[in-house]
Amino acid sequence: MREHSLTIPAPERWGEGIVSVEEGRDLELEVRLESVHEGILASGTVDTIYDGVCGRCLRDISQPVEVEFQELFEYPGQETSDFELQDDHVDLETLVRDAIVLSLPFQPVCSPDCPGLDPATGDRRSESSGEAPAPVDPRWAALQELTHTESAPSAVQSREES
Ligand SMILES: [Zn+2]
Repeated sequence: MREHSLTIPAPERWGEGIVSVEEGRDLELEVRLESVHEGILASGTVDTIYDGVCGRCLRDISQPVEVEFQELFEYPGQETSDFELQDDHVDLETLVRDAIVLSLPFQPVCSPDCPGLDPATGDRRSESSGEAPAPVDPRWAALQELTHTESAPSAVQSREES
């Protein structure tokens, strides 16, 4: 078994939502590689920062994110895992990228109690004026349900594809 601590820059922008990990952001990896019968089991954690805007008030946000990962890298020719050893190397990039992208929030907020924008004026509401929840315009309610039901299954789908 071998353990590694690595800090490498993100090779490109990861994530297509309103928050993403920007190219060049440090990825702090703690990786454990274990030799098992079928190949190499790679597990560990990755820490980084995502940037974007708050989904309620559109303020710029940068938040830390930590993700765990574990995957078997098989010896070539077995084809029961999505990952294979390549010339005795474990290529963690796809694994780490997918773990990060799937962990990015669909509805990021600058703080859990962000009061968001005033529905009437579009101004940012102050913390004190945000006590009453924003009334949902009944004409928009159906649309809101649509975004909720669409975002959840797409995460499941991309996990299966990876
Ligand atoms: Zn906010």
